[in-house]
Amino acid sequence: MELKNYIAGEFKESLSGEWLDVEEPATGRKYAKVPLSNAEDVEMAVESARSARGQWGDLSFEERSDWLTRIADGLELRREEIASLESRDTGKPITLARNVDAERSISNFRFFAEMLKNHRGEEFEMSDAMNYVSSKPVGVGALITPWNLPLYLLSWKVAPAIGMGNTVICKPSELTPMTANLLMEVIDEIGLPAGVVNLVHGDGGGAGSRLVGHPGVDLVSFTGGTATGAEVARTAAPQFKKISLELGGKNASIVFGDCDLDATVKGVTRSAFLNQGQVCLCGSRVLVERSIYEDFKHEFVQSVEDLRIGDPASEDTELGAIISRGHLEKVEGYVALSIKEGGVCLTGGPGSSVSMEDRLKGGNWMRPVVVEGLPVDSRCSTEEIFGPMVTIHPFDGEEMAIEIANNTRYGLAGSVWTTDLEKGRRVAENMRTGMVWVNTWLHRDLRTPFGGVKDSGVGREGGKWSLGFFSEPLNVCIKDNSD
Ligand code: NDP
Repeated sequence: MELKNYIAGEFKESLSGEWLDVEEPATGRKYAKVPLSNAEDVEMAVESARSARGQWGDLSFEERSDWLTRIADGLELRREEIASLESRDTGKPITLARNVDAERSISNFRFFAEMLKNHRGEEFEMSDAMNYVSSKPVGVGALITPWNLPLYLLSWKVAPAIGMGNTVICKPSELTPMTANLLMEVIDEIGLPAGVVNLVHGDGGGAGSRLVGHPGVDLVSFTGGTATGAEVARTAAPQFKKISLELGGKNASIVFGDCDLDATVKGVTRSAFLNQGQVCLCGSRVLVERSIYEDFKHEFVQSVEDLRIGDPASEDTELGAIISRGHLEKVEGYVALSIKEGGVCLTGGPGSSVSMEDRLKGGNWMRPVVVEGLPVDSRCSTEEIFGPMVTIHPFDGEEMAIEIANNTRYGLAGSVWTTDLEKGRRVAENMRTGMVWVNTWLHRDLRTPFGGVKDSGVGREGGKWSLGFFSEPLNVCIKDNSD
């Protein structure tokens, strides 16, 4: 299968004539080709988005809301196809792709369609004048997304961006391009005006960085690694582009002695290993109050060992494959480092490979790993690993838990597990992160702000925060001098 770019309402071959192979993580087999777009492709896409700006920006919020609903309806008809493409492209279990990726991609469009219908500017009365604030489009947006939640994250940007009247160019990860292509097919089928949404495939260093640096791009919404985010900021900031950076995380799950043990073990296991630990919000550092450390550890390790690793296409698989051979090697490198840093693998670890059969033999497989005994400031306990490996640490009391949780350059998310909700609140308030869950994890209300502090990013997306980022407020102050 050879994918194409989508520019000015047409599927177009890249002018570069060069391709990148797309591999299936579960088998290691190449199964598609994606264009390695060059500077001319990027130029065409920017030109297309710039030409479409005026008319699209002039539509009313209601009209654009209708378009978002039409996209959601188009995706809905292909719900199962989204799930199976996402599962094949990323190696994640089909049930996860169905219940999270397909579900959220569709609901992102419906959610923002609804928000737009109710969008009203604010007014501020003065004693002798009045102000009203209206939201104007920013212009052309570059939307750059990673491989772990491909359509979920792309739709989270496309919907509010075009909803607020911008036109966009999408650049999905070269590793997982399939559902971005499907979104373009839907957009094409429903007849969205040409140029409102464009897609340029290719590598980050090429197509991605050219988009970020292009003077015709007015805003950049980027989700990905912290090092790449810094590079994006270096290029975009001096041009005063609007930038939103959703970056990495090293999130703590804080387990108190008074927690509901069964529910907590279940919740912490899910938060550690969902999507093979490849979610920016995953709780990769498990901090446990010393009074229940041994009991919790025993139950937790058992629960991790019970996770069924297998073919992502199979309905009962709970852990699929790692995205790429390179990423698998990176995670295995951290497992080896954890031993050097003084850790002990309670389950998984060097040498405990997964033997898969037949077509899955060449895939990127590893057992989940739980490491104890590491200093809380070791590299494995503080750096983002982004795979099926967690560290577990005992603590004494709230203060120590908070201190360990904050002892990292990241500040994206965290969770607190306790039956004392006052304590849960108190601890949450003192965690230097953008989001904290108490007795739950990844429980999302799309109206709430999503994003992190410190090296986890700049800005927030979600609900009114997305609408704010993807628009420019215009304040008009009116004084009536007619009398
Ligand atoms: P990367 O930073 O490697 O890539 C993210 C995207 O940026 C990809 O589309 C990539 O293209 C592109 N890219 C790479 N280099 C550049 C560049 N110089 N200029 C512009 N674009 C570029 O991240 P991963 O894809 O490896 O994703 C994993 C990371 O994403 C983790 O750190 C994770 O925590 C983070 N993440 C954060 C989330 C959040 O909301 N905070 C959510 C999900 C993930 P290509 O892949 O084609 O090279």
